[in-house]
Amino acid sequence: MLRISGIDKSYGDTQILKRCSIEVAPKETIVIIGPSGSGKSTLLRCVNLLETIDAGKILFEGRDVTRERRHEHLVRQQIGMVFQNFELFSHLSAVENIMLAPVTVLGMSRHDAHDLALGLLDKVRLRNRAEAFPDELSGGQQQRVAIARALAMKPKLMLYDEPTSALDPEMISEVLDVMTDLSAEGMTSVVVTHEMGFARRAADKIVFMDAGEVIVTASSEQFFSGVVHERARRFLDQIL
Ligand code: ATP
Ligand code: MG
Repeated sequence: MLRISGIDKSYGDTQILKRCSIEVAPKETIVIIGPSGSGKSTLLRCVNLLETIDAGKILFEGRDVTRERRHEHLVRQQIGMVFQNFELFSHLSAVENIMLAPVTVLGMSRHDAHDLALGLLDKVRLRNRAEAFPDELSGGQQQRVAIARALAMKPKLMLYDEPTSALDPEMISEVLDVMTDLSAEGMTSVVVTHEMGFARRAADKIVFMDAGEVIVTASSEQFFSGVVHERARRFLDQIL
């Protein structure tokens, strides 16, 4: 589904990503962990074509999306992205936030988009808040609307960048539960998170990054059974 192969990325003289390679098979959930500044967000931004890469390849469904601009719309439509800060449209209700892209990008009728949006609100357990505006929703609810909005484009791959790190502790699990359900249903996902409970529960593979490099790629069982690189061990000791 996604093959990141040997990518380099620099800002000016500073190399941020060094020969990073990650493979994501269909229906897999990959969790990326690593210290602050290790390049996790930059890596996701490269996949989403929000950044250009200096070397290497990113193949999405076999197509080299970084080489050919015509693949850009494919990436925009088929890769859903959820950020730390929700970024909902504040002047639109929850249901309208979700309807927007299907109507404007896919040309779906408002009627169909509305049905789709209500179904997705159901999925993220917010059907009863369809008409609420973002400022009337808690952070956890806003993030669930953001997930529903990404799903409205029927993406083949979901990317999450620390989706719960801006949330109050009591709201974290409601968002992680929705993500866990999606993963269990076979939504291919790449998740940057510090939530090790989620990683244990939902991840097929764990990728540990440090200083711009992929240091460890391991199955979740392997990773948490302690058979890991010592830098990863030190990182875990710090956050757990
Ligand atoms: P965090 O856990 O804090 O979110 P991260 O692993 O996501 O960290 P990145 O945001 O990818 O790390 O940043 C990696 C490095 O790249 C950092 O040293 C950061 O300062 C640098 N960086 C990120 N964006 C830019 C930019 N637009 N210009 C210059 N340097 C940048
Ligand atoms: Mg980051």
